[in-house]
Amino acid sequence: MDPDEFRRAGHAVIDWIADYWATLEQRPVAPADPPGTVAAALPATPPTASEPVDAVLADLDAIVVPGLTHWQHPGFFGYFPANTSGPSLLGDLVSSGLGVQGMLWASSPACTELETVMMDWLAQLLDLPQRFRSTGSGGGVIQDSASSATLVATLAALHRASGGRWRDAGIDRRYRAYTSVHGHSSIEKAVRIAGLGSDGVRPIEADPETLALRPAALRAAIEADLAVGEIPAIVVATIGTTSTTAIDPLPEIGAICAEYGIWLHVDAAYAGAAAVCPELRWSHTGLEYADSYCFDPHKWLLTGFDCDAFWVADRGELVEALTVLPEFLRNAASESGAVIDYRDWQVPLGRRFRALKLWFVLRWYGVEGLRAHIRSGVALAARFADRVRADDRFELAAAHPFSLVCFRLRADDDTNAELLARLNGTGRVHLTHTRVAGRYTLRLAVGSPQTAERHVDEAWTLLTTTADELLHP
Ligand code: PLP
Repeated sequence: MDPDEFRRAGHAVIDWIADYWATLEQRPVAPADPPGTVAAALPATPPTASEPVDAVLADLDAIVVPGLTHWQHPGFFGYFPANTSGPSLLGDLVSSGLGVQGMLWASSPACTELETVMMDWLAQLLDLPQRFRSTGSGGGVIQDSASSATLVATLAALHRASGGRWRDAGIDRRYRAYTSVHGHSSIEKAVRIAGLGSDGVRPIEADPETLALRPAALRAAIEADLAVGEIPAIVVATIGTTSTTAIDPLPEIGAICAEYGIWLHVDAAYAGAAAVCPELRWSHTGLEYADSYCFDPHKWLLTGFDCDAFWVADRGELVEALTVLPEFLRNAASESGAVIDYRDWQVPLGRRFRALKLWFVLRWYGVEGLRAHIRSGVALAARFADRVRADDRFELAAAHPFSLVCFRLRADDDTNAELLARLNGTGRVHLTHTRVAGRYTLRLAVGSPQTAERHVDEAWTLLTTTADELLHP
Protein backbone atom coordinates (compact mmCIF):
# COMPACT_ATOMS: atom_id res chain seq x y z
CA MET A 1 0.00 0.00 0.00
CA ASP A 2 1.71 3.20 -1.12
CA PRO A 3 0.96 6.55 0.56
CA ASP A 4 -1.71 7.51 -2.02
CA GLU A 5 -3.48 4.17 -1.73
CA PHE A 6 -3.26 4.54 2.04
CA ARG A 7 -4.78 8.03 1.88
CA ARG A 8 -7.78 6.80 -0.14
CA ALA A 9 -8.37 3.68 1.96
CA GLY A 10 -7.73 5.62 5.17
CA HIS A 11 -10.43 8.17 4.35
CA ALA A 12 -12.84 5.31 3.67
CA VAL A 13 -12.00 3.70 7.03
CA ILE A 14 -12.45 6.97 8.96
CA ASP A 15 -15.79 7.47 7.21
CA TRP A 16 -16.74 3.92 8.13
CA ILE A 17 -15.96 4.53 11.83
CA ALA A 18 -17.82 7.86 11.86
CA ASP A 19 -20.87 6.16 10.30
CA TYR A 20 -20.62 3.33 12.83
CA TRP A 21 -20.63 5.78 15.74
CA ALA A 22 -23.48 7.81 14.21
CA THR A 23 -25.70 4.73 13.78
CA LEU A 24 -24.83 2.87 16.98
CA GLU A 25 -28.14 3.58 18.64
CA GLN A 26 -30.07 1.85 15.85
CA ARG A 27 -28.26 -1.44 16.41
CA PRO A 28 -29.00 -4.15 18.96
CA VAL A 29 -26.47 -3.68 21.78
CA ALA A 30 -25.40 -7.35 21.69
CA PRO A 31 -25.75 -10.16 19.15
CA ALA A 32 -28.21 -13.00 19.59
CA ASP A 33 -26.51 -15.49 17.23
CA PRO A 34 -25.17 -18.80 18.58
CA PRO A 35 -21.43 -19.45 19.07
CA GLY A 36 -19.57 -20.14 15.83
CA THR A 37 -21.73 -17.84 13.65
CA VAL A 38 -18.94 -15.37 12.84
CA ALA A 39 -16.28 -18.03 12.31
CA ALA A 40 -18.59 -19.99 9.97
CA ALA A 41 -19.12 -16.91 7.79
CA LEU A 42 -15.37 -16.37 7.25
CA PRO A 43 -13.35 -18.18 4.55
CA ALA A 44 -11.38 -21.13 5.89
CA THR A 45 -8.21 -20.08 4.06
CA PRO A 46 -6.42 -16.74 3.59
CA PRO A 47 -6.84 -14.94 0.25
CA THR A 48 -4.32 -15.89 -2.43
CA ALA A 49 -4.42 -12.54 -4.20
CA SER A 50 -4.63 -8.97 -2.89
CA GLU A 51 -8.10 -7.69 -2.00
CA PRO A 52 -9.17 -4.03 -1.80
CA VAL A 53 -9.92 -2.40 1.57
CA ASP A 54 -13.50 -1.80 0.35
CA ALA A 55 -14.03 -5.56 0.28
CA VAL A 56 -12.83 -5.83 3.87
CA LEU A 57 -15.17 -2.99 4.93
CA ALA A 58 -18.08 -4.76 3.24
CA ASP A 59 -17.34 -7.93 5.24
CA LEU A 60 -16.99 -5.86 8.41
CA ASP A 61 -20.58 -4.74 7.85
CA ALA A 62 -21.87 -8.14 6.79
CA ILE A 63 -20.03 -10.48 9.16
CA VAL A 64 -18.17 -8.78 12.00
CA VAL A 65 -20.39 -5.93 13.19
CA PRO A 66 -23.51 -8.14 13.57
CA GLY A 67 -21.43 -10.38 15.84
CA LEU A 68 -20.27 -7.58 18.15
CA THR A 69 -21.37 -6.41 21.56
CA HIS A 70 -21.27 -2.64 21.06
CA TRP A 71 -19.43 -1.21 24.04
CA GLN A 72 -19.83 2.38 22.82
CA HIS A 73 -23.63 1.99 22.40
CA PRO A 74 -25.60 4.43 24.56
CA GLY A 75 -27.55 1.46 25.97
CA PHE A 76 -24.40 -0.41 27.02
CA PHE A 77 -24.38 -0.59 30.82
CA GLY A 78 -22.35 -3.78 31.34
CA TYR A 79 -19.16 -4.48 33.34
CA PHE A 80 -17.37 -1.13 33.59
CA PRO A 81 -17.31 1.23 30.62
CA ALA A 82 -14.46 0.96 28.11
CA ASN A 83 -14.64 4.37 26.54
CA THR A 84 -13.15 5.40 23.32
CA SER A 85 -13.41 8.79 21.62
CA GLY A 86 -12.47 10.58 18.41
CA PRO A 87 -9.30 12.17 19.78
CA SER A 88 -8.17 8.91 21.37
CA LEU A 89 -8.64 7.03 18.13
CA LEU A 90 -6.76 9.69 16.18
CA GLY A 91 -3.88 9.62 18.65
CA ASP A 92 -3.72 5.83 18.33
CA LEU A 93 -3.77 6.14 14.56
CA VAL A 94 -0.80 8.47 14.66
CA SER A 95 0.97 6.06 17.00
CA SER A 96 0.33 3.20 14.56
CA GLY A 97 1.46 5.36 11.66
CA LEU A 98 4.70 6.30 13.37
CA GLY A 99 5.34 2.71 14.42
CA VAL A 100 8.12 3.65 16.84
CA GLN A 101 9.34 1.60 19.83
CA GLY A 102 9.74 3.37 23.16
CA MET A 103 11.54 0.74 25.19
CA LEU A 104 14.54 3.04 25.75
CA TRP A 105 14.76 6.81 25.73
CA ALA A 106 17.38 6.33 23.01
CA SER A 107 15.07 4.17 20.87
CA SER A 108 12.79 7.18 20.26
CA PRO A 109 13.31 10.08 22.71
CA ALA A 110 10.01 11.93 22.20
CA CYS A 111 8.09 8.73 22.91
CA THR A 112 9.53 8.62 26.44
CA GLU A 113 9.47 12.35 27.13
CA LEU A 114 5.85 12.85 26.03
CA GLU A 115 4.84 9.91 28.24
CA THR A 116 6.61 11.36 31.29
CA VAL A 117 4.90 14.71 30.78
CA MET A 118 1.48 13.08 30.18
CA MET A 119 1.81 11.09 33.39
CA ASP A 120 2.68 14.28 35.28
CA TRP A 121 -0.32 16.03 33.65
CA LEU A 122 -2.57 13.16 34.71
CA ALA A 123 -1.12 13.27 38.24
CA GLN A 124 -2.06 16.97 38.38
CA LEU A 125 -5.48 16.26 36.89
CA LEU A 126 -6.24 13.75 39.67
CA ASP A 127 -4.37 15.82 42.29
CA LEU A 128 -2.24 12.78 43.19
CA PRO A 129 0.31 13.12 46.01
CA GLN A 130 3.54 14.89 45.04
CA ARG A 131 5.53 11.70 45.67
CA PHE A 132 4.17 10.20 42.44
CA ARG A 133 5.43 13.02 40.22
CA SER A 134 8.58 12.66 38.12
CA THR A 135 9.90 15.88 39.67
CA GLY A 136 10.40 13.95 42.94
CA SER A 137 11.46 10.37 43.60
CA GLY A 138 8.47 8.83 41.86
CA GLY A 139 6.97 8.79 38.42
CA GLY A 140 4.34 7.37 36.14
CA VAL A 141 4.31 4.96 33.24
CA ILE A 142 1.61 3.65 30.92
CA GLN A 143 0.93 -0.08 31.31
CA ASP A 144 -1.41 -2.03 29.07
CA SER A 145 -3.82 -2.85 31.88
CA ALA A 146 -4.49 -2.61 35.60
CA SER A 147 -3.66 -6.32 35.76
CA SER A 148 -0.12 -5.59 34.55
CA ALA A 149 0.14 -2.71 37.03
CA THR A 150 -0.68 -5.08 39.90
CA LEU A 151 1.86 -7.61 38.63
CA VAL A 152 4.61 -4.99 38.38
CA ALA A 153 3.73 -3.64 41.85
CA THR A 154 3.88 -7.19 43.23
CA LEU A 155 7.34 -7.75 41.75
CA ALA A 156 8.65 -4.47 43.17
CA ALA A 157 7.11 -5.38 46.53
CA LEU A 158 8.89 -8.75 46.52
CA HIS A 159 12.13 -6.97 45.73
CA ARG A 160 11.62 -4.79 48.79
CA ALA A 161 10.34 -7.53 51.11
CA SER A 162 13.29 -9.80 50.28
CA GLY A 163 15.83 -7.04 50.92
CA GLY A 164 16.80 -7.23 47.23
CA ARG A 165 17.40 -11.01 47.23
CA TRP A 166 14.35 -11.84 45.07
CA ARG A 167 16.19 -10.81 41.88
CA ASP A 168 18.73 -13.61 42.27
CA ALA A 169 17.26 -16.03 44.76
CA GLY A 170 13.64 -15.96 43.56
CA ILE A 171 10.97 -16.91 46.07
CA ASP A 172 13.12 -18.03 48.98
CA ARG A 173 10.52 -17.67 51.73
CA ARG A 174 6.72 -17.63 52.15
CA TYR A 175 5.80 -14.15 50.95
CA ARG A 176 2.18 -13.06 51.31
CA ALA A 177 -0.17 -10.64 49.58
CA TYR A 178 -3.38 -9.25 51.10
CA THR A 179 -6.52 -7.87 49.53
CA SER A 180 -10.19 -7.62 50.36
CA VAL A 181 -12.46 -10.52 49.46
CA HIS A 182 -13.77 -8.06 46.84
CA GLY A 183 -10.32 -7.37 45.33
CA HIS A 184 -10.11 -7.98 41.57
CA SER A 185 -9.20 -11.43 40.25
CA SER A 186 -6.10 -9.90 38.60
CA ILE A 187 -4.52 -9.72 42.08
CA GLU A 188 -4.68 -13.50 42.49
CA LYS A 189 -3.32 -13.89 38.97
CA ALA A 190 -0.42 -11.48 39.61
CA VAL A 191 0.47 -13.30 42.82
CA ARG A 192 0.43 -16.67 41.06
CA ILE A 193 2.56 -15.38 38.17
CA ALA A 194 4.98 -13.93 40.73
CA GLY A 195 5.41 -17.45 42.11
CA LEU A 196 3.70 -17.10 45.49
CA GLY A 197 1.31 -19.98 44.81
CA SER A 198 -2.46 -19.99 44.77
CA ASP A 199 -2.57 -19.50 48.57
CA GLY A 200 -0.18 -16.52 48.31
CA VAL A 201 -3.09 -14.08 48.61
CA ARG A 202 -4.86 -13.71 51.93
CA PRO A 203 -8.48 -12.69 51.22
CA ILE A 204 -9.40 -10.17 53.93
CA GLU A 205 -12.92 -9.89 55.24
CA ALA A 206 -14.99 -6.87 54.21
CA ASP A 207 -17.49 -4.86 56.21
CA PRO A 208 -20.96 -6.29 55.44
CA GLU A 209 -22.44 -2.79 55.06
CA THR A 210 -19.79 -0.82 53.17
CA LEU A 211 -18.25 -3.90 51.45
CA ALA A 212 -14.85 -2.30 52.16
CA LEU A 213 -11.85 -4.14 53.60
CA ARG A 214 -11.84 -4.30 57.42
CA PRO A 215 -8.51 -2.91 58.69
CA ALA A 216 -8.72 -4.95 61.92
CA ALA A 217 -8.99 -8.16 59.87
CA LEU A 218 -5.99 -7.07 57.78
CA ARG A 219 -3.90 -6.48 60.88
CA ALA A 220 -4.92 -9.84 62.33
CA ALA A 221 -3.95 -11.67 59.11
CA ILE A 222 -0.56 -9.91 58.95
CA GLU A 223 0.20 -10.71 62.57
CA ALA A 224 -0.85 -14.34 62.16
CA ASP A 225 1.49 -14.71 59.16
CA LEU A 226 4.38 -12.99 60.95
CA ALA A 227 3.90 -15.31 63.93
CA VAL A 228 4.62 -18.35 61.76
CA GLY A 229 7.56 -16.77 59.93
CA GLU A 230 5.78 -15.69 56.75
CA ILE A 231 6.62 -12.36 55.12
CA PRO A 232 3.87 -9.85 54.34
CA ALA A 233 4.99 -8.31 51.03
CA ILE A 234 2.09 -6.35 49.55
CA VAL A 235 -1.39 -5.09 50.35
CA VAL A 236 -3.63 -4.25 47.40
CA ALA A 237 -6.41 -1.85 48.37
CA THR A 238 -9.16 -0.90 45.96
CA ILE A 239 -10.89 2.38 45.23
CA GLY A 240 -14.04 1.22 43.45
CA THR A 241 -14.27 -2.58 43.64
CA THR A 242 -15.41 -4.37 40.52
CA SER A 243 -18.65 -5.75 41.92
CA THR A 244 -20.00 -2.68 43.68
CA THR A 245 -17.42 0.20 43.65
CA ALA A 246 -16.74 -0.13 47.38
CA ILE A 247 -13.85 1.99 48.65
CA ASP A 248 -11.30 0.43 51.00
CA PRO A 249 -10.30 2.74 53.90
CA LEU A 250 -6.84 3.88 52.78
CA PRO A 251 -5.89 5.93 55.87
CA GLU A 252 -6.23 2.90 58.17
CA ILE A 253 -4.80 0.42 55.67
CA GLY A 254 -1.93 2.80 54.88
CA ALA A 255 -1.07 3.21 58.56
CA ILE A 256 -0.89 -0.58 58.97
CA CYS A 257 1.34 -0.93 55.89
CA ALA A 258 3.62 1.83 57.17
CA GLU A 259 3.86 0.16 60.58
CA TYR A 260 4.94 -3.19 59.11
CA GLY A 261 6.92 -1.84 56.12
CA ILE A 262 4.56 -3.48 53.60
CA TRP A 263 4.17 -2.22 50.01
CA LEU A 264 0.73 -0.65 49.49
CA HIS A 265 -0.63 -0.77 45.95
CA VAL A 266 -3.92 1.03 45.29
CA ASP A 267 -6.02 -0.31 42.44
CA ALA A 268 -8.46 2.34 41.21
CA ALA A 269 -8.85 0.80 37.76
CA TYR A 270 -12.33 2.19 37.11
CA ALA A 271 -12.96 4.77 39.83
CA GLY A 272 -9.63 6.61 39.62
CA ALA A 273 -11.03 8.70 36.77
CA ALA A 274 -13.51 10.19 39.27
CA ALA A 275 -10.65 12.10 40.91
CA VAL A 276 -10.56 14.52 37.97
CA CYS A 277 -13.54 16.10 39.77
CA PRO A 278 -12.55 17.89 42.99
CA GLU A 279 -15.89 16.94 44.60
CA LEU A 280 -15.11 13.20 44.16
CA ARG A 281 -11.54 13.28 45.48
CA TRP A 282 -12.70 12.24 48.94
CA SER A 283 -12.57 8.73 47.46
CA HIS A 284 -8.76 9.02 47.30
CA THR A 285 -8.23 10.12 50.91
CA GLY A 286 -5.15 8.38 52.33
CA LEU A 287 -3.46 7.87 48.95
CA GLU A 288 -0.34 9.54 50.34
CA TYR A 289 0.41 6.20 52.05
CA ALA A 290 0.54 4.30 48.74
CA ASP A 291 3.76 3.00 47.22
CA SER A 292 1.99 2.58 43.89
CA TYR A 293 -1.34 3.51 42.37
CA CYS A 294 -3.09 2.87 39.09
CA PHE A 295 -6.22 3.72 37.18
CA ASP A 296 -7.42 2.95 33.66
CA PRO A 297 -8.08 5.94 31.39
CA HIS A 298 -9.31 3.16 29.07
CA LYS A 299 -12.27 2.58 31.34
CA TRP A 300 -13.92 5.90 32.15
CA LEU A 301 -11.68 8.64 30.75
CA LEU A 302 -12.46 8.64 27.04
CA THR A 303 -9.21 6.90 26.08
CA GLY A 304 -9.41 3.70 24.06
CA PHE A 305 -8.06 0.39 25.34
CA ASP A 306 -5.24 -0.09 26.23
CA CYS A 307 -4.09 2.58 28.64
CA ASP A 308 -3.46 1.99 32.33
CA ALA A 309 -1.80 4.86 34.20
CA PHE A 310 0.54 3.49 36.89
CA TRP A 311 2.61 5.50 39.36
CA VAL A 312 5.24 4.59 41.93
CA ALA A 313 6.47 6.70 44.81
CA ASP A 314 10.05 5.39 44.44
CA ARG A 315 11.03 4.73 40.84
CA GLY A 316 14.46 3.50 41.99
CA GLU A 317 12.96 0.44 43.71
CA LEU A 318 10.89 -0.47 40.65
CA VAL A 319 13.80 -0.12 38.24
CA GLU A 320 16.11 -2.10 40.51
CA ALA A 321 13.55 -4.90 40.66
CA LEU A 322 12.96 -5.17 36.92
CA THR A 323 16.08 -4.01 35.10
CA VAL A 324 17.96 -6.41 32.83
CA LEU A 325 20.61 -4.95 30.56
CA PRO A 326 21.76 -6.99 27.57
CA GLU A 327 24.65 -5.65 25.51
CA PHE A 328 22.43 -4.80 22.55
CA LEU A 329 20.49 -2.24 24.61
CA ARG A 330 23.52 -0.46 26.06
CA ASN A 331 23.74 3.21 25.07
CA ALA A 332 25.32 6.42 26.27
CA ALA A 333 22.05 8.12 27.26
CA SER A 334 21.04 5.25 29.57
CA GLU A 335 24.50 5.10 31.08
CA SER A 336 24.46 8.86 31.75
CA GLY A 337 21.54 8.28 34.19
CA ALA A 338 19.84 11.36 32.75
CA VAL A 339 17.00 9.57 30.96
CA ILE A 340 14.10 7.23 31.72
CA ASP A 341 14.08 3.82 30.04
CA TYR A 342 10.50 2.63 30.43
CA ARG A 343 11.45 -0.97 29.56
CA ASP A 344 12.55 -1.19 33.22
CA TRP A 345 9.07 -0.20 34.43
CA GLN A 346 7.07 -3.01 32.83
CA VAL A 347 7.12 -6.72 31.90
CA PRO A 348 7.62 -6.58 28.09
CA LEU A 349 10.59 -4.93 26.44
CA GLY A 350 8.84 -3.29 23.48
CA ARG A 351 6.30 -0.56 24.00
CA ARG A 352 4.17 1.49 21.68
CA PHE A 353 3.53 5.21 21.75
CA ARG A 354 0.41 5.18 23.94
CA ALA A 355 1.08 8.66 25.33
CA LEU A 356 -0.10 10.09 22.00
CA LYS A 357 -3.71 9.12 22.57
CA LEU A 358 -3.61 10.63 26.04
CA TRP A 359 -2.14 13.83 24.60
CA PHE A 360 -4.90 14.02 21.99
CA VAL A 361 -7.59 13.32 24.62
CA LEU A 362 -6.26 15.78 27.21
CA ARG A 363 -5.90 18.54 24.64
CA TRP A 364 -9.26 17.94 22.94
CA TYR A 365 -11.39 17.77 26.09
CA GLY A 366 -9.31 19.86 28.48
CA VAL A 367 -9.78 19.45 32.22
CA GLU A 368 -13.32 20.84 32.06
CA GLY A 369 -14.40 18.46 29.29
CA LEU A 370 -13.14 15.44 31.21
CA ARG A 371 -14.88 16.60 34.38
CA ALA A 372 -18.12 17.04 32.43
CA HIS A 373 -17.88 13.42 31.22
CA ILE A 374 -17.41 12.05 34.76
CA ARG A 375 -20.12 14.28 36.20
CA SER A 376 -22.56 13.16 33.55
CA GLY A 377 -21.94 9.48 34.42
CA VAL A 378 -22.37 10.12 38.14
CA ALA A 379 -25.58 12.15 37.60
CA LEU A 380 -27.10 9.55 35.27
CA ALA A 381 -26.37 6.77 37.75
CA ALA A 382 -27.96 8.85 40.54
CA ARG A 383 -31.02 9.42 38.32
CA PHE A 384 -31.40 5.67 37.82
CA ALA A 385 -30.79 4.92 41.52
CA ASP A 386 -33.54 7.41 42.45
CA ARG A 387 -35.99 5.45 40.28
CA VAL A 388 -34.95 2.20 42.00
CA ARG A 389 -35.33 3.76 45.44
CA ALA A 390 -38.79 5.07 44.64
CA ASP A 391 -40.17 1.70 43.45
CA ASP A 392 -41.07 -0.79 46.20
CA ARG A 393 -40.54 -3.75 43.91
CA PHE A 394 -36.80 -3.02 43.71
CA GLU A 395 -33.97 -2.42 46.15
CA LEU A 396 -30.47 -0.97 45.93
CA ALA A 397 -27.82 -3.56 46.84
CA ALA A 398 -24.94 -1.15 47.55
CA ALA A 399 -24.01 2.52 47.67
CA HIS A 400 -23.40 4.21 44.29
CA PRO A 401 -20.62 6.77 44.77
CA PHE A 402 -19.63 6.76 41.08
CA SER A 403 -21.51 5.69 37.93
CA LEU A 404 -22.42 2.10 38.88
CA VAL A 405 -25.78 1.15 40.39
CA CYS A 406 -26.21 -2.32 41.94
CA PHE A 407 -29.83 -3.30 42.45
CA ARG A 408 -32.26 -6.18 42.40
CA LEU A 409 -35.91 -7.03 42.21
CA ARG A 410 -37.19 -8.03 45.67
CA ALA A 411 -37.41 -11.63 44.49
CA ASP A 412 -35.28 -14.76 44.41
CA ASP A 413 -32.03 -15.19 42.47
CA ASP A 414 -33.63 -17.12 39.59
CA THR A 415 -36.20 -14.38 39.03
CA ASN A 416 -33.47 -11.73 38.98
CA ALA A 417 -31.39 -13.79 36.53
CA GLU A 418 -34.43 -14.18 34.29
CA LEU A 419 -35.08 -10.43 34.54
CA LEU A 420 -31.56 -9.71 33.32
CA ALA A 421 -31.82 -12.24 30.48
CA ARG A 422 -35.12 -10.79 29.25
CA LEU A 423 -33.90 -7.22 29.59
CA ASN A 424 -30.77 -7.92 27.55
CA GLY A 425 -32.89 -9.94 25.11
CA THR A 426 -34.62 -6.70 24.06
CA GLY A 427 -31.37 -5.67 22.35
CA ARG A 428 -31.91 -2.10 23.59
CA VAL A 429 -29.74 -2.31 26.71
CA HIS A 430 -26.97 -4.51 28.04
CA LEU A 431 -26.40 -4.98 31.79
CA THR A 432 -24.30 -7.53 33.67
CA HIS A 433 -24.60 -9.03 37.14
CA THR A 434 -22.67 -9.84 40.31
CA ARG A 435 -23.41 -11.30 43.72
CA VAL A 436 -23.67 -9.07 46.78
CA ALA A 437 -23.84 -10.90 50.13
CA GLY A 438 -24.39 -14.08 48.12
CA ARG A 439 -27.44 -12.70 46.31
CA TYR A 440 -27.82 -12.27 42.56
CA THR A 441 -27.57 -8.55 41.80
CA LEU A 442 -27.90 -6.54 38.59
CA ARG A 443 -25.30 -3.91 37.73
CA LEU A 444 -25.97 -0.82 35.62
CA ALA A 445 -22.72 0.99 34.83
CA VAL A 446 -23.04 4.30 32.96
CA GLY A 447 -20.08 5.50 30.97
CA SER A 448 -20.52 5.52 27.21
CA PRO A 449 -19.99 9.10 25.96
CA GLN A 450 -23.25 8.78 23.98
CA THR A 451 -25.40 7.80 26.99
CA ALA A 452 -27.89 10.55 27.88
CA GLU A 453 -30.87 10.85 30.24
CA ARG A 454 -33.24 9.34 27.69
CA HIS A 455 -31.16 6.15 27.50
CA VAL A 456 -31.15 5.69 31.26
CA ASP A 457 -34.90 6.40 31.31
CA GLU A 458 -35.44 3.84 28.57
CA ALA A 459 -33.45 1.29 30.60
CA TRP A 460 -35.72 1.97 33.57
CA THR A 461 -38.89 1.67 31.48
CA LEU A 462 -37.72 -1.62 29.98
CA LEU A 463 -36.80 -2.87 33.42
CA THR A 464 -40.17 -2.11 34.98
CA THR A 465 -42.12 -3.50 32.00
CA THR A 466 -40.05 -6.66 32.01
CA ALA A 467 -40.47 -7.01 35.77
CA ASP A 468 -44.26 -6.63 35.36
CA GLU A 469 -44.33 -9.37 32.73
CA LEU A 470 -42.22 -11.61 34.94
CA LEU A 471 -44.19 -11.07 38.14
CA HIS A 472 -47.65 -11.10 36.52
CA PRO A 473 -47.40 -13.45 33.52
N1 PLP B 1 -9.04 -3.83 39.04
C1 PLP B 1 -10.32 -3.47 39.11
C2 PLP B 1 -10.85 -2.86 40.37
C3 PLP B 1 -11.17 -3.67 38.00
O1 PLP B 1 -12.46 -3.33 38.10
C4 PLP B 1 -10.63 -4.23 36.82
C5 PLP B 1 -11.49 -4.44 35.65
O2 PLP B 1 -12.66 -4.16 35.64
C6 PLP B 1 -9.28 -4.58 36.80
C7 PLP B 1 -8.51 -4.37 37.92
C8 PLP B 1 -8.66 -5.18 35.59
O3 PLP B 1 -8.52 -4.17 34.63
P1 PLP B 1 -7.63 -4.40 33.30
O4 PLP B 1 -8.57 -4.99 32.31
O5 PLP B 1 -7.14 -3.04 32.96
O6 PLP B 1 -6.53 -5.35 33.65
